[in-house]
Amino acid sequence: MSEVIILMGKPNAGKGTRLEKFLKGREGYRAVSTGDFLRNEVSKGTELGMKAKGYMDSGKLVPDEIINSIISNFMSQSDDTLIFDGYPRTVAQVESMLSAGIIPEKVVCLDVDDEIIIERAADRLYCPECKATYTEKSQFAQPKVAGVCDKCNSKLIKREDDKPEVTKKRLDEYFSKTEPVKDALTNAGIPVLILDGNNPSVDELFEKAMEL
Ligand code: AMP
Repeated sequence: MSEVIILMGKPNAGKGTRLEKFLKGREGYRAVSTGDFLRNEVSKGTELGMKAKGYMDSGKLVPDEIINSIISNFMSQSDDTLIFDGYPRTVAQVESMLSAGIIPEKVVCLDVDDEIIIERAADRLYCPECKATYTEKSQFAQPKVAGVCDKCNSKLIKREDDKPEVTKKRLDEYFSKTEPVKDALTNAGIPVLILDGNNPSVDELFEKAMEL
């Protein structure tokens, strides 16, 4: 079975961005984002996507049964080291993962302040085609042409779940359901490395933690 690293952090902690940079030019790793998978199902209008959409748009977690079946499909497809981005997000998902024999090597957790999370979400633009993300007002990652994806020329959109009221709900979900995941994994003997996501050198810290 593939080796697994778990990437954790509040919604919009910068997990996807850190991971994209880390994966550039590196072989042998594969990112598994349950959020991207679900968004893809929603945009294709599949039955699974239709079931998930209401939860996602209102900032709630999608039921565990749906998520566990997605993960078991991924596990049977790859020999690369899998980096789980956004899974497990509940203690029940941790239990299901461990009982399926998936024992992660480590957890890398990005810690970012809530105010920064809410600001980032409100400023984010998203490409529905290639999933790239940009900033709208902050200089940090603006697209070359306003509102257009640099990579595939598609029109950029705002994600429904990036609205401030939905981000707040997502943070509530994170504190009540996802925060306990860290203890559940620690108790299972899996090392949890916590990184300061507000630190300007976070990319370097992230690389070190991933390669440790
Ligand atoms: P993300 O892009 O990872 O923040 O995920 C977007 C949304 O997809 C979340 O707010 C949840 O509604 C849903 N989702 C993604 N991964 C999971 C998961 N492991 N468990 C439950 N819901 C999830």
